[in-house]
Amino acid sequence: MVAHNLGYPRIGSHRELKKASEQYWAGKISHDQLLEAGRHIRRANWLTQQQAGIQLIPCNDFSFYDQTLDWSLTVDAIPARFRPLVEKPGANELDLYFAMARGYQQNGLDLIAMEMTKWFDTNYHYIVPEFTQNQTFSLRSDKIFREFVEAKTVLGTVPKPVLPGPVTYLLLGKEKEGGFHRLDLLDRLLPVYEQILSRLQEQGAEWIQLDEPCLVLNSDERQQLAYRTAYRFLRERFPNLKLLVASYFECFGENLNLATQLPVDALHIDLVRCPSQLDDILQTDFVTKKTALSLGLVDGRNIWINDLNRSLGFIQKATAALGKDRVLIAPSCSLLHTPCDLNSETDASGLTPEIKQWLVFAKQKLGEVVKLATMAEQPESEQTQQWLRENEALLAARRQSQLINRPAVQERVRKVTDQDINRTSAFPERQSIQHQRLNLPLFPTTTIGSFPQTEEVRVNRAKFKKGEKTIEHYEDFIRQETEKAIRWQEEIGLDVLVHGEFERNDMVEYFGELLDGFAFSQNGWVQSYGSRCVKPPIIYGDVYRPEAMTVRWTEFAQSLTDKPVKGMLTGPVTILQWSFVRDDQPRRDTCLQIAFAIRDEVVDLEKAGIRIIQIDEPAIREGLPLRRENWVNYLDWAVRAFRVSASGVGDETQIHTHMCYSEFNDIIQPIADLDADVITIETSRSQMELLDAFVQFNYPNEIGPGVYDIHSPRVPTTDEIMALLKKAADVLPVRNLWVNPDCGLKTRRWPETEQALKNMVQAAQTARKLVAETV
Ligand code: GLN
Ligand code: ZN
Repeated sequence: MVAHNLGYPRIGSHRELKKASEQYWAGKISHDQLLEAGRHIRRANWLTQQQAGIQLIPCNDFSFYDQTLDWSLTVDAIPARFRPLVEKPGANELDLYFAMARGYQQNGLDLIAMEMTKWFDTNYHYIVPEFTQNQTFSLRSDKIFREFVEAKTVLGTVPKPVLPGPVTYLLLGKEKEGGFHRLDLLDRLLPVYEQILSRLQEQGAEWIQLDEPCLVLNSDERQQLAYRTAYRFLRERFPNLKLLVASYFECFGENLNLATQLPVDALHIDLVRCPSQLDDILQTDFVTKKTALSLGLVDGRNIWINDLNRSLGFIQKATAALGKDRVLIAPSCSLLHTPCDLNSETDASGLTPEIKQWLVFAKQKLGEVVKLATMAEQPESEQTQQWLRENEALLAARRQSQLINRPAVQERVRKVTDQDINRTSAFPERQSIQHQRLNLPLFPTTTIGSFPQTEEVRVNRAKFKKGEKTIEHYEDFIRQETEKAIRWQEEIGLDVLVHGEFERNDMVEYFGELLDGFAFSQNGWVQSYGSRCVKPPIIYGDVYRPEAMTVRWTEFAQSLTDKPVKGMLTGPVTILQWSFVRDDQPRRDTCLQIAFAIRDEVVDLEKAGIRIIQIDEPAIREGLPLRRENWVNYLDWAVRAFRVSASGVGDETQIHTHMCYSEFNDIIQPIADLDADVITIETSRSQMELLDAFVQFNYPNEIGPGVYDIHSPRVPTTDEIMALLKKAADVLPVRNLWVNPDCGLKTRRWPETEQALKNMVQAAQTARKLVAETV
């Protein structure tokens, strides 16, 4: 039985790629040195897979930034604005590539980067292809051929090139002008695929993996036709290449028959995300065909050890129906979304030995895949029995561990009542009570929470974490920064102040470290985009708040001023979404446990005299399931969790929430159902377009549409901010409006922050005058 892999993390087990790329961008290493760093990582990855016993090893899964961007270069879909770089004499391809990813401001050119967006429901971001009506494609980059030869040389066997399937590649892109649909371009794209596959065939390729994850999305007839056309075309041209179409992340839904009928040699399915898929497929006429089935059994999105017995059950079912020769064993998707190697976790201050034995990272997952293939060959062997016993013992130990189980927490979640999810009074009553108590002007001004995390702040935290600075010194420093921030906010006349979040490095990690049930790896990095990596917390057990987490800092900040200081918390859905979540209970239960912990914090803040509390939920939208039919269920528990966290306070306490990078149109009802007294959202980049959803819906509660883009150092003028405010005031009741930036300011520097906020306050003051004059 063939064990294969769909893709391996490319950042390197010690983030070598991040370090090399950033040094290259800073001009500290040469082009050749960067290429060498890439070669080094690829070689190590291939050998790791070979040593683990993987038979079919992927190539072209490496990327210096993003595999979708690689493909845009391969098929020459380079947006016109980058032509000056293409034509520049002596220009190197890598600089063009990075310019497309990151923008280019040199030699009198100012080229805006291509858009970046989330890869399905992961935290990985890809570079969105841009298409025009007259788009042409041609074979431009030879990366895939070079890496094929390179892999073949390193491995001494034939690797499996991985490429985006033609339909998914087009669907992931965007039409940059009207008058056409991107799938209209398929006929122009397919000949380039033909060229690419011919050349790979000449080079000796046998298997080709075409990633078509869009196959799991809701699709219409146009899309379905595109898949049929594409694979009929490739099949006719390449009767002798083995084509493997890879789907992942969800069930096929309405595409089931389409997928099972594709004229290809193998179909990969994700049995972690969609365990029912196997039965569904075995009920179609797939059984009567020759196509092989690649079973995605080892979770490529999470880090828990595999339930080998359960996986073996899937394999046996598949082989009984299809025969051994038609079954392949694999991870559920590319291992890109998992950290590299659990063996780099050597420090028990991170993962304790007990927790560590429940975990597998990418390298260990290869071992699981191979083990499963071996076990399936010899189900009765002593070795198989032993592996099963060991695995069952670990799973049982995990189930029963003291570390995981907190009966009181489980009980609380089970007994959640309507009272837990409702504020005492409805919004209109709360609003008048809060207005009386807070006595804020019209167009109250505030910020979203964080202030610039300067070099000094980061250095101080790093020193403290390394033990080079005592907690007293560190906290003194944070107190000073907070005090400066409060004084400064008073001085420029902001109405609702924040403490600045100087004590936090990350809005999820900070809370994870203070909550029980979370663990942190030392080296568990996962690529987020380009050179940027994140180290998600690991939620392994029932979540519990041993003591107050933010009260001390918030109370301190409030003690410095008479103006209200906003308490600042991260919401349960966002904490869940940005962590590796335990797989032994439904996500909704874990989310509710977090919600209760946050609720206790909210109540404690209220007790400490904090009048306004913000619960950030920037990730609520990205948690949406990939298939629409699952939205209702998710939104139901997500909204419930938020309401649990927010509903423990009296009417007089004002609850804010904040969301960014979201389209709100299709989830406006659930957003209203959060029933936050105030929501602040990102709107400035779209020139308030995102506000339309709220206007059309007659959104009843208060709202702060962001009036300036914090992603850019550019300082908006008072007039610009006024214009945006006016747009908002034209369509929403003035008494509901707040004035604030799009998001937190931690990535900005102080000079631009100071000027921008001054302009913002001035715009609000002008707006107040205008309203006063018209009354
Ligand atoms: N309160 C957080 C901050 O200001 C919110 C961050 C976010 O929305 N991503 O940094
Ligand atoms: Zn934000």
